[in-house]
Amino acid sequence: MKQKFFTKQLLKWATTIDRPMPWKGEKNPYFIWLSEIILQQTRVEQGLPYFLKFKEKYPTVHDLANAPEDEVMKLWEGLGYYSRARNLHFSAKHISKELNGEFPKNYNEILKLKGVGAYTASAIASFAYDLPHAVVDGNVFRVLSRCFGIEIPVDTTEGKKEFNKLANELLEKKQAAKYNQAIMDFGAIQCMPKAPLCSSCVFKKECIAFRKDKVLDLPIKSKKIKKKTRYFNYLILNFKGDVWINKRLEKDIWQNLYDFPLIETKTQAKKEDLIGSEVWKKCIGDSDFKIQKISNPFRQLLTHRKIIATFFEIELSSDILIKKNSYIKVERKNLSKFAYPKVIDLYLKDNSLNLSHRW
Ligand code: SF4
Repeated sequence: MKQKFFTKQLLKWATTIDRPMPWKGEKNPYFIWLSEIILQQTRVEQGLPYFLKFKEKYPTVHDLANAPEDEVMKLWEGLGYYSRARNLHFSAKHISKELNGEFPKNYNEILKLKGVGAYTASAIASFAYDLPHAVVDGNVFRVLSRCFGIEIPVDTTEGKKEFNKLANELLEKKQAAKYNQAIMDFGAIQCMPKAPLCSSCVFKKECIAFRKDKVLDLPIKSKKIKKKTRYFNYLILNFKGDVWINKRLEKDIWQNLYDFPLIETKTQAKKEDLIGSEVWKKCIGDSDFKIQKISNPFRQLLTHRKIIATFFEIELSSDILIKKNSYIKVERKNLSKFAYPKVIDLYLKDNSLNLSHRW
């Protein structure tokens, strides 16, 4: 397919669709940045309510910069990839304080913001300032590999270089915002991963993948991600309506979110495996306790990990003093004020009916 034809057809196709989004046509770089960070690795339907919440709560970059981190994390709760929220907050402070609230105005400066990669910098530069930078993400890999029949794996350096070059050649430089929006829309509603709408596609005559019956074989990835399983055993220590929660300060998944005292094991643990472990000794010591309930395993899939979490509801007969700064004693009825990973949230919601009258 000729490159000029692709660009022209794509822009023409864009005028025929109706896909309103609150950030479409937005020129405020702060809101564009917000929407792009929220939409990284996230479906539009899932990210949309978060974008609206953030926009309302923090209408300017200064509002976001001045917000307490726990509040930002709480607002982000449920969206996953929490480093995005931490980086967003960090960069908001940088823009507010070091740059006097002025959002960077060119690609290289935007790229310097923490949490902003090439894709996000191109999106912001083109949408906010109409600068000629093509977005290249999973959608673009898919559309270009299919239309142009490119079989180089997209997750290799060579593949990335090749797709990046082609994407920038195809970009309509005088209408960078429109073009980038068009290719993203096209990947989202026409050339979808599993069920592309080839029979109604404007490229069906020229698209190489369609002509060669390779639509579902492209794009090619060289390696499949293997997921490692981690077993998390949570001790929910109850004493007279209080429980202990833990702020995850270590460099690990879910940094700065809250969970409970945790014993990680290599396989699914039984209660005998936990009693006597370091964490158990540190938390419970010689105090009397009763294990009230052991939950079924709760699962959460992350990009590289599978988390299997089991919750041990333990009733203590006396108060305890845990010497660890990250542990905080809170009233059980106030648990919902903190931000948790999804698997904890699922457990707490699952138990919300019987918790209130048990403790
Ligand atoms: S014909 Fe099918 S595979 Fe080719 S661009 Fe259109 S939707 Fe995608």
